[in-house]
Amino acid sequence: MEQVIERVLIDRRAIAGRVEEMAGQIAADFRAHAASNGEPPALVLVPIMTGSIIFLADLIRELPLMLRLNVISVNSYTGKATVGGELTISGNLPEDMSGAHVLIVDDILDSGRTLTAIRGMIAQRGVASVGTCVLLRKRIPSAMATPAEYVGFDIEDRFVVGYGLDYDGYYRNLPDVVTLKQEAMR
Ligand code: 5GP
Ligand code: MG
Repeated sequence: MEQVIERVLIDRRAIAGRVEEMAGQIAADFRAHAASNGEPPALVLVPIMTGSIIFLADLIRELPLMLRLNVISVNSYTGKATVGGELTISGNLPEDMSGAHVLIVDDILDSGRTLTAIRGMIAQRGVASVGTCVLLRKRIPSAMATPAEYVGFDIEDRFVVGYGLDYDGYYRNLPDVVTLKQEAMR
């Protein structure tokens, strides 16, 4: 599998270090939030499958907090009639999330369509707060303009795989974030 790698953009050690930092930041912010309101803390992570799976697993093990997971999946269907396609969201997101501090977790912020849609949907469920945490963000205007409280790395506008991110379903198990050789993408 390694022979398809063009370049390692972010290696596993850099990822691990940054994930630990992000978790520290999230825990500190959440504690400050909960303490200032005197409310029982209810942290709910909403990971978007499948790309966030490795990031999620590493992140939550660095979070020494009471938390719950509500896993969701997003599929986009590019119908002829709908410009840009339609997003279908499936999973176990409760209708009523009153009082919860929700953190959406995704692998990468690209056009921002996915995160904007999910954030809007969650905001309507009576939550105390909603935030977004992504491992990667592309240095493009649409991504930079999308609200994201926690961002691991800003990267160039290249298609990347590894650490959960796929090409045609493969390469999620590569431990580093890499670009693929041209011949691997067809
Ligand atoms: P957005 O709605 O921000 O355009 O899309 C985000 C989703 O598109 C990500 O969750 C991911 O599934 C996919 N995506 C965007 N850029 C890349 C990329 O460079 N590599 C891979 N593997 N998936 C990407
Ligand atoms: Mg995704």
